[in-house]
Formats: sequence, structure tokens, C-alpha cells
Amino acid sequence: SIRAPASKQTATLLVAVKCRPLTEVEQRQSRNIIQFVDKKNVVVLDPDLSKDYLDRIQNRTKEKRYCFDHVLGPECTNADVYKSVCSTIAGVIQGLNATVFAYGSTGSGKTYTMVGTRKDPGLMVLSLNTIFELIKKDKCSDKIEVSCSYLEVYNEVIYDLLEKSSGHLELREDPEHGIVVAGLRSIKVQSTDRILELLNLGNSRRKTESTEANATSSRSHAMLEISVKRKQKNQHLNQILSGKLALVDLAGSERASETNSGGHKLRDGANINRSLLALANCINALGKHQKKGLAYVPYRNSKLTRILKDGLSGNSQTVMIATISPADDQYHHTVNTLKYADRAK
Ligand code: ADP
Ligand code: MG
Repeated sequence: SIRAPASKQTATLLVAVKCRPLTEVEQRQSRNIIQFVDKKNVVVLDPDLSKDYLDRIQNRTKEKRYCFDHVLGPECTNADVYKSVCSTIAGVIQGLNATVFAYGSTGSGKTYTMVGTRKDPGLMVLSLNTIFELIKKDKCSDKIEVSCSYLEVYNEVIYDLLEKSSGHLELREDPEHGIVVAGLRSIKVQSTDRILELLNLGNSRRKTESTEANATSSRSHAMLEISVKRKQKNQHLNQILSGKLALVDLAGSERASETNSGGHKLRDGANINRSLLALANCINALGKHQKKGLAYVPYRNSKLTRILKDGLSGNSQTVMIATISPADDQYHHTVNTLKYADRAK
């Protein structure tokens, strides 16, 4: 049997905001409306309140200010984002569960933050790097196993992103392992060498559907789960530290009502909202838990939150990275994202 350590009893929630740089097109067409006050405070200027932009920068009364655990500007790399949240991730080696998710509208930088590029690898890659570094230094274990699975939740159906053409996968409640995705492929990994390729391949299998909001809008949630099993020296075989780290690249948070879509796509939008709404409720409960002690986390309301259950309850740690664009035409999305993140605190 697998034993989880009875160490920390409080769930923790950390909220960080990452603002991406203006894209080349935006640099010509859009104005920057985000200002960074310090490492925790960010200000959003309302582009409609006054046409006189410079005037408003002087007049701070018409701006909206938000405070988070960490605020990361356009100059910050994924490694900087990682540094601000890495304390959460290292716990997986100690048998703790953690969940990191990127929340934001389409085009705000969720996939960039989670997967990244070869030059600027994202949180999924950097987390695995840390795990392997910690394993290398570890002197007290005689057996460590790291495995990964990569799945998609689209329209409340689960697909395996590590399989070429995955069928629908079902959730099962296992008395020993809790909620499991039946038939999901899990691969043992020894290093981070091939992980970026694997993630990109998996992402190419994600269901994307063009909507009027954005032609390449990703309407699915993608989740990488890194599982670490560690047997400590001089301990019984059945005493295995088992930690899971879930990294989730959420579907675009723009509201279904904002996309002019009907029929099949509307159902799709409604289901995306169901998962995001359910997640919001779980995050809210976690926030309360942190402030006032135990609160029930309503994880049952969607596929996504059921899969994430272990990483959203008990002694788990949760990190929310809210991604935003600095461009004025994204104002409403940015404010919606920051409000959602603000409620989570
Ligand atoms: P999302 O997954 O939220 O839809 P993406 O991650 O695809 O958004 O990002 C949208 C665009 O912005 C992409 O072209 C991406 O390369 C670029 N981008 C996002 N974040 C950054 C960043 N931190 N630095 C540089 N470019 C970024
Ligand atoms: Mg994306």
C-alpha cells in the first residue's frame, strides 16, 4: 500500500500573475495598459475612460489596482515565473501533492508559460528539471520512479494526449488510489531530454476549434501529471512516498457568450465553463480553507476538478498563474482574469 506523509495539514494557495510582452503586431497596433507598481501590485488602465493616456497615468484615481503573491512583468522569463512558485513544486519529492494551473483568455500566454520553447522552457519542463536535480542529490532513497501522463479534457470527455488517436477515457474511483483515469498511458521518464518534444506532440493532438473570438482558440484543458514514487532506505517495501504534481494548461477563459457560436460549439463552450466554474469554486474553497481552516472543496462538479481532486484537497498545494496580455484591446479579458484570480486569494 502507498503511504502519504502526515506532515503538513493545511492546503496552501499561491496566486501569481504573468503579463506577456506585446507581440510584434500589437507593438504597432495596441497600447500597453498594464503597469507594475512593485513585485506584488499591478495596475490596469481603462482604455475607455479617457483618451488622454498620459494624463491618466498621472491621475491614479481611474485605475484598477490588484495585489497578488507575485506579479511578473513582460521582461520576466518562464524561469522567473518558476522561481516564484518553485517551493510548491519541490514538495512532490516529499510525497506532497501539488497543482499548478495557468488561467487566462486565449492568446494571453498559458501554453507559453506551461510548455514554453527550447530557449525559454515552461513550467512543465522546469518542474521536471527540479525533480531530477533533487533526485540526483538524494542520498536517502534506494529507489525513485518518475512517471508522466498527459491528458486532455474537452467537452467533458477525457482523451490521452500521449496516444496517437485516443478514445474516450473514463474516470474510476479506486479504493486504494482514489480517482483514476482508466487506461491512461503513463510513461516512465529518466530525464527531461525528450519532454518538450513529447509535450509539443501531445499539444498537436489537442482539439482546437476556430471560434469567432480567436481562430486558433484552444478550447480544451491539458494536464501533465508527474508522479514521483520514492522508497526510502531501511524502510519497509510498502512504505513508499508518493507525490503527484499536476500542471494544467486551461482552456481559454473568455466567456462562451462572447463567442458567436451555436449548436455543437455552444455546448462545448458551456462545458468549458462548467469545468472552469467548478475549478473556481474549488479554488474559492481552498482560499477559505487557508484563512479559516477546513472547508469542503466541491471537486465533484466537473471532470477536470475530479481528476484534480488529490491536488486540490488534503495537504496539497495549489498555484494559480493568471496570464494576461498588456494590450488595450484585451482590457475586458484582463480585468476578468484578474478578478477571477483576486477572488481566489
Ligand atoms: P494561450 O495558450 O493562452 O492561448 P499562448 O501561450 O499561445 O497563449 O501565447 C500567445 C502568443 O504570445 C504566442 O505567440 C506566444 O509565443 C506569445 N507569448 C506568450 N507568452 C509569452 C512570453 N512570456 N514571452 C514571449 N512571448 C509570449
Ligand atoms: Mg494555448
